[in-house]
Amino acid sequence: MFNRFYILLFISIALISCNQKAKHNQLNTQQNKSESKPVSDTVQDSVFLSMGLYSISNLNPNIRVDLKYTSNDNFLQKVLYKKIDKAYLQKDVAIRLSKCQDFLDSIMPGYHLIVYDAVRPVSVQKIMWKAMDSLPPKIRKRYVSSPQSRSLHNFGAAVDISLMNGDQLLDMGSEFDEFNEIAYPRMEDEFLKKGKLSHEQYENRKLLRKVMDSQNFEVLSTEWWHFNACSFKHARTNYKVLLEE
Ligand SMILES: [Zn+2]
Repeated sequence: MFNRFYILLFISIALISCNQKAKHNQLNTQQNKSESKPVSDTVQDSVFLSMGLYSISNLNPNIRVDLKYTSNDNFLQKVLYKKIDKAYLQKDVAIRLSKCQDFLDSIMPGYHLIVYDAVRPVSVQKIMWKAMDSLPPKIRKRYVSSPQSRSLHNFGAAVDISLMNGDQLLDMGSEFDEFNEIAYPRMEDEFLKKGKLSHEQYENRKLLRKVMDSQNFEVLSTEWWHFNACSFKHARTNYKVLLEE
């Protein structure tokens, strides 16, 4: 009887001590994470997950991500994303993009989609809109949506994207965010005839569209890199807008 009592007492003490140790370790891990990286994956991910957004690279590691607005490597030569460090899209949009990569894997093994921008807060949209105020309004709207009317990027329903063969970017005949007619998909046939786009550049853009078309992403007629996942009506009905990072 006494023996059984002492055995139970010993097991209880051992369990309590293990539980406290586990809690202590958990706390340490969280503290270490926030100390080593100011933008905590867990905090940031949970904010976006609550909006229904998914990180593309978490979903499909074959998709490369190089967010241009996290560095100076963009048309404003300014860091615009202070907190965002992953490419987030609405869950169903991210799943469709992942299927695009699967399709690319099947037709061009070793090729990768590379994402330059995905969800974009309205606060950043305002900065972009203001930065281009030297352009006449009609021209400005071709390249950047006004913060009032929103961009599908603000919903996580548009993606700026290109292609890589292994570690090599494919030549698309213009840079990302090169705001002139050479970037216009609607003028590609004309530019091919005039020799302003090479056959290879023309075919690379066609391949990107073929891959994105496979999941009904639609290219913008003025930017070869920008693809909308749905209509504005669909986005306004089904998705939330990201106002701030
Ligand atoms: Zn875009």
